Amino acid sequence: MSVCKGIYHVLIYAKTEHKVALRMVLIPILNLNMEKRIVIVTGGAGYIGSHTVVALHESGYRPVIIDDFSNSKPEVLDGIAKITGVKPQLFSLDCRSKNDLLEALQSCTADGEVAGVIHFAAYKAVGESTEKPLDYFENNIGSTVSLLAAMSESGVSNLVFSSSCTVYGQPDQIPVDESAPILPAESPYGYTKQACERLIMDAFKSSMPLSACLLRYFNPIGAHQSANIGELPIGHPNNLIPYLTQAVAGLRNPLTVFGNDYPTEDGTCIRDYIHVMDLARAHVASIAWLESNSPSCEAFNLGTGTGKSVSEVIAAFEKTNGIEVPYAFGPRRSGDVVAIFANAEKAHRELGWNCEFNLEEALRDAWKWQLQLAQA
Ligand code: UDP
Repeated sequence: MSVCKGIYHVLIYAKTEHKVALRMVLIPILNLNMEKRIVIVTGGAGYIGSHTVVALHESGYRPVIIDDFSNSKPEVLDGIAKITGVKPQLFSLDCRSKNDLLEALQSCTADGEVAGVIHFAAYKAVGESTEKPLDYFENNIGSTVSLLAAMSESGVSNLVFSSSCTVYGQPDQIPVDESAPILPAESPYGYTKQACERLIMDAFKSSMPLSACLLRYFNPIGAHQSANIGELPIGHPNNLIPYLTQAVAGLRNPLTVFGNDYPTEDGTCIRDYIHVMDLARAHVASIAWLESNSPSCEAFNLGTGTGKSVSEVIAAFEKTNGIEVPYAFGPRRSGDVVAIFANAEKAHRELGWNCEFNLEEALRDAWKWQLQLAQA
């Protein structure tokens, strides 16, 4: 017998005087089963967005995607459906349009209870941002302004914002925690993350009903273990792992390691590489945290707490996947910080979140995804 039918029979056969009390207990349970709370995910077809959609589904939420596919492909939704068995609802729109966003948010609130919005939609290439600062300011800051206005008008108050550890620049102390100063941004991209954090904090201090988590990512890598979704860089990959996997697959020239004369043990830069599914689950934990901690506005570092050098990552990739990485040392890349990794104690403590995967597992899944792409 289904849960709904069972509850129906209990109500029918209960004595009249018990019915009111039973209804009060059982109807919320019935609703819990029938109506999953909605989480709206802007940029939900992107790399971190798509993995977060899967994690939300697995945790019993109903993710709804907003995406204009300017840096992703509609086929990503098929990959999500292969994992979850459900193709998520989609609003195909540009987040700069407040009116389009408002329509989508109002349609969601009419459809069920909205637990919150996770805002990924943004341009993200550091180098490109120095070439196209107007585009980055307009898109990244403009869409966050529009989203806050649409949330305010539609009565949706919980926001999880996709930020970055670039807000810290090169911190004086590593591991870095959330109290470290925000340094002047190195790039227009970095500036847009700082500006959006500031915008959200100012909106929180105003009379607008808003609660927010500002999630400062370290270096997300890897893919869903099924290899049905992963990172799909359009054109030349700028980040280490997508370039490395494409170089190993023979699709690119050998990897250039940007600098081996840094003041680190092996001379290469140090970063904190986190499995994208661990990062995705932190977004689910943030939504749950906002549901029971409003009104709040807090920043959280999301990293493993361990720094690895570029040379260590290459060695770990070769050992884990049993394949050689073609690479050569080259000059430093301008704007690179020497070393940064997270103190993520606050996220552990407040969100009850921890990483489940290590570097080797993330590199295994990154390579599995690349192999799957080659077969597709
Ligand atoms: N890196 C590299 N070669 C590449 C891409 C990246 O040596 O083709 C290095 C980069 O200098 C940095 C690390 O890999 O030390 C991570 O770079 P990524 O761009 O992935 O992340 P971010 O610099 O934004 O932390």
